Amino acid sequence: MSKNYVIGFPRIGEKRELKFALEDFWAKRSDFSEVEKVAKMLKKRHWEYQREAGIDHISSNDFSYYDNMLDTAVMLGAIPTRFQDIEDPTAQYFAMARGDEKRTAMSMTKWLNTNYHYIVPELSLSDNYGLNLTKITDEYNEAKAQGLKTKINLIGPITFLALSRRVDSGDTFELFDKILPLYKEALEKIASLDSDIIVQFDEPIFVKDVSTKELSLLKRAYDQLGSVEGIKIAVVTYFNSANEATKVLANTSVWAIGLDLIYGELDEGATQAVAQSGKVLIAGIVDGRNIWINDIDESLKKLHSLGLPKEQIIVSSSCSLLHLPFTLKYEEKLSTEIKSWLSFALEKLDELSLISTLFFETEAELDQQKQTQLTQNRQAISTRKNSTLIHKEEIKQRVANLTESALGRSTPFEERIKKQKATLKLPTLPTTTIGSFPQTTELRSARKAFKQGEIDTNAYEQVMKNYIDECVAFQEEIDLDVLVHGEPERNDMVEYFGEMLEGFAFTQNGWVQSYGSRCVKPPLIYADVSRPKPMTLDWITYAQSKTDRIMKGMLTGPVTILNWSFVRDDQPRSLTAKQIALAIADEIDDLQKAGIKIIQVDEAAFKEGYPLKKDQASEYEQWAVESFKIATAVADDETQIHTHMCYSDFNDIIRTIEAMDADVISIETARSGNRLLKIFKDHGYKQEVGPGVYDIHSPRVPSQEEIEKQIALLLEVLPKEQLWINPDCGLKTRKWEEVKPSLEHMVKATKKFR
Ligand code: GLN
Ligand code: ZN
Repeated sequence: MSKNYVIGFPRIGEKRELKFALEDFWAKRSDFSEVEKVAKMLKKRHWEYQREAGIDHISSNDFSYYDNMLDTAVMLGAIPTRFQDIEDPTAQYFAMARGDEKRTAMSMTKWLNTNYHYIVPELSLSDNYGLNLTKITDEYNEAKAQGLKTKINLIGPITFLALSRRVDSGDTFELFDKILPLYKEALEKIASLDSDIIVQFDEPIFVKDVSTKELSLLKRAYDQLGSVEGIKIAVVTYFNSANEATKVLANTSVWAIGLDLIYGELDEGATQAVAQSGKVLIAGIVDGRNIWINDIDESLKKLHSLGLPKEQIIVSSSCSLLHLPFTLKYEEKLSTEIKSWLSFALEKLDELSLISTLFFETEAELDQQKQTQLTQNRQAISTRKNSTLIHKEEIKQRVANLTESALGRSTPFEERIKKQKATLKLPTLPTTTIGSFPQTTELRSARKAFKQGEIDTNAYEQVMKNYIDECVAFQEEIDLDVLVHGEPERNDMVEYFGEMLEGFAFTQNGWVQSYGSRCVKPPLIYADVSRPKPMTLDWITYAQSKTDRIMKGMLTGPVTILNWSFVRDDQPRSLTAKQIALAIADEIDDLQKAGIKIIQVDEAAFKEGYPLKKDQASEYEQWAVESFKIATAVADDETQIHTHMCYSDFNDIIRTIEAMDADVISIETARSGNRLLKIFKDHGYKQEVGPGVYDIHSPRVPSQEEIEKQIALLLEVLPKEQLWINPDCGLKTRKWEEVKPSLEHMVKATKKFR
């Protein structure tokens, strides 16, 4: 009996081998055969890991040189016109992904609610498509040569269309009849490779709020694909429930349905549909999104409670393991206790194997190794429940005892702003920036040298202070109104705070693919969070001491810290967010006591945390807003709280933003004119707004006239009393040569209006 299943495996390599091979190739330090060599080695190794762990269903075509959506576009021959004249397929592929001298890259966006970015296919009704199965058959045969019969992973047609965009006008689903025959042809060719090959179609789009149209396309697609002889089809979804789709799929001829039982649940109707159809349920009970060990006994209970006959169950990861760091084996700095609670992609394989053995056999039949694994698992689960490393009574009490006055500012905005205007004495249209100034090589090497113990604290701080001095001098010189210290001491806006908070851990090698060859290393929040000592106070007060102007304190907000970390699964996210909020509140209080009058609490990732289903949004909004308010409640009426969000699409969340009750919000509007600022007007938004007047994401220096035009547009929409003038995001990725003239133009343009 085939018992366990992995939706997909990370491909970047445990030492990020693929990243380095690709980057060498892109920088022309090697040729493509080197990348191919590394890719072959990695695939082989990853298959071997899965086989050794006892995984029954291992994938091929989960590998990619850049991205699986891009691969699917290539499989279908959906090459946008501007790339069609590139003859070399490798050059064409990477030009699509990254652009070249002559062509802009295809755009990139987040894969559902993950931090993985896929390439957005560009489709048009006039395109001519044609199947290209080389990658898929090659990979299948590579595994076969290694003695493995893999399942073949494909992105399903509905998800492919839903996540693509039309370059002519119209709906992507209009291309359904154009691409489905190609998918069918692909299955027929795959059927000729071997008998009974399993083809996994990823259809995660069905965990969102799907329309009847999408559901009927689902039915049509899998009725037709299911008619191909000699193939077993598995349709998998992940990241939330897919009950509607399950009911539809139960009435098609697919072999199996994959569901996420960690971030979703099966309702009655869907369970019955699966039971009656006799289809296999690929039960995702090992979390592919988070880094904690599985509670094996709980998982077994969950599997039994499904009430399905065992022949109908396969034990699976909840989604591809791509979203996890690779392995714990190179982590030398994490304490053994913390390590015992963690499980990365490689370790999850053993969990899957153990759960399936226990589910399909009995505990008595376990071999010695698995027996030990089970004992260790039970021990770790139990220490995690009680460990004093994790559980801090005072922190829990502090959250539980939050009183009314700690849940938000007590004076309404209308009154606060009057007091603030009286103390701050800023001119109309005050100018400021979002926080960071260019991160120079000097700063980076100083930070690195300090981390590696090559320079001492004094030497390090001196480099930072010199930089702050320069930032202050520059801002005074160009006559900005509200200054910043420039954030030279910060590597990353979340990591910096995580490193100073208790309850956070950092890996040495916990890289997760973000896009192409890029990886991120999110912090792990493993315990109750607190702030043992001030985090930014010294830097900000130092910067303030260098100027008579107002120095803005700069913090990262609780929701953003949470959304960019791996979070605890043993308590609700909302609770962790509130603990972080209290830590930030302590910092705000220290800053204002030290005379800092404006404090910015960045919530760059606020929107990212929204759930995939609309009816779950209000719960998120409630605790996310509450957390921000807890963080800022300590601010005196005279202390002005700013926040910043890095996007522009506020239409559906404007009321939520308003409810956060920040005195000033800076947002990214530079690229969309004043169209979205109108939303603020239409909703009668009352707080102050700093709509970015130029786009910092491009190296282009905006002229003074251009900024004047932009300001004029803003003034058509909002009254001058409500407006701030600033760039649309932090300046750390820019160069000084760009930043200096841009800000100078911004200040001059503003003065003209005054
Ligand atoms: N204060 C941060 C900076 O300026 C904000 C970063 C962001 O919005 N992503 O860099
Ligand atoms: Zn930003």
